[in-house]
Amino acid sequence: MGLASRRMRTVYVAEYPAIQHRHEDGHIVTVRLKRAEGGFRALCAGCETEFVYRKPAPSAVAHFKSPLLPPVKGNWEGGDDDR
Ligand SMILES: [Zn+2]
Repeated sequence: MGLASRRMRTVYVAEYPAIQHRHEDGHIVTVRLKRAEGGFRALCAGCETEFVYRKPAPSAVAHFKSPLLPPVKGNWEGGDDDR
């Protein structure tokens, strides 16, 4: 923010803390994310790109029980012999 004097690209990355990227001349450049307002950012003057760290998207797979399913209860209340 505040550095957008020229056309600055913004790239969202999920890597941390170092971002490796390739310049047009073929050089691999590493920039380090720094803590900034609202998250971590890295600025590369060489290619006028701002890298913004963004947490990997949450998995589409639910890791907890779905609230849509009614709780299972009662199956064991009669004892194991009761089935
Ligand atoms: Zn660069």
